[in-house]
Amino acid sequence: MRKTLQLRPGVVISAISDDTARAKQYLTRAELKKFHLRSTALPCAFKENEDETVIFYFSPDTVEEADVDDWHFSYQKEQLEVLPSGTVIERMSTRRAASYGFFSKERLAQLHYEAVEEPVGFSLKKDGERVYFYDKKTCIRQPLMCVECGKHIRFKKKLCESCYEKDLAERRKIGNEYRAQSFGMKRESVLFFDLELTGFYDRDEILSISIIDGTGKLIMNTFVKPTHTHKWKKTEKIHGITPEMVENSPTLEELIPEIKEIFAGADNIIAYGVSTDYSHIRHIYETAQEQAELKSKIRCCAFEYVRYMHENHPELVHASLTDAMACFEIEWEGVAHSSIADTYGCRKVWERLFPNYYVD
Ligand SMILES: [Zn+2]
Repeated sequence: MRKTLQLRPGVVISAISDDTARAKQYLTRAELKKFHLRSTALPCAFKENEDETVIFYFSPDTVEEADVDDWHFSYQKEQLEVLPSGTVIERMSTRRAASYGFFSKERLAQLHYEAVEEPVGFSLKKDGERVYFYDKKTCIRQPLMCVECGKHIRFKKKLCESCYEKDLAERRKIGNEYRAQSFGMKRESVLFFDLELTGFYDRDEILSISIIDGTGKLIMNTFVKPTHTHKWKKTEKIHGITPEMVENSPTLEELIPEIKEIFAGADNIIAYGVSTDYSHIRHIYETAQEQAELKSKIRCCAFEYVRYMHENHPELVHASLTDAMACFEIEWEGVAHSSIADTYGCRKVWERLFPNYYVD
């Protein structure tokens, strides 16, 4: 005799005696029917009969009045069936059954449920064959099978543990080969950059720009004075740049010629989490063609790190620059989260990801 039933992952109910059920005022399906009620929740306990059929108990706290249509059995005999247990079930259309959450065994199997209770209704096919309906609430959710082998229970990404490990090893091999290849880049023509902003939206402005090259040489590191934003309390807490600090700094407009010149000499421009940085820095260019040219040079270190992480450390879930640096045991240079420290950090993570990135 089963002592517990796992109806759903994490939902386990226990077998109880009739006396306990009565003391708790639990209701069986037959009692619900008698009082014209219907349960809105999964059963809260069960009793297994000698013949292994299962009777479920429902809590009186989670019942509602059944539809009037459902109050009375039809009196036409062919519309009823007496089950071996003595329970009377009623003929109903598939549509009505579905509205109660009742389905055929075949349909439940497709939904990965298995019925352990007796049927709660039936329909008649044109050829007279009976199709029984079972209440999905009292069915046991079956573990999903691996989409690859179909033999074992799913572990991750719809695969069983061994198929997942195989798939991971394959992806890791391809990823590691991609990262280990020679990219033939010149250190001087690779740039790493980071921006600090007044906020995260397009209308927000740049507060600082840091650019270094592949040799580690500092190319630009400056505060930028915004032209239409005067306060940025929320982001100030993150990067620590106050309005006073940028008071006497150049505006973006003034820096544009220099940034354009720096970018023009670069083959790759790399940042960690490049989408916000790109969406702001692209405005230094006026034409869509210039912006597209910039975009073609930009590489995202976060994107590459996430791929590496999924392939080599699937147990990790966070992928901030701090996390990436911790993963490679890289120390911060300078004040963490200032744009210059982030830029140095980004460079180190990138060079760990792509050990043969440079020609030398
Ligand atoms: Zn498998």
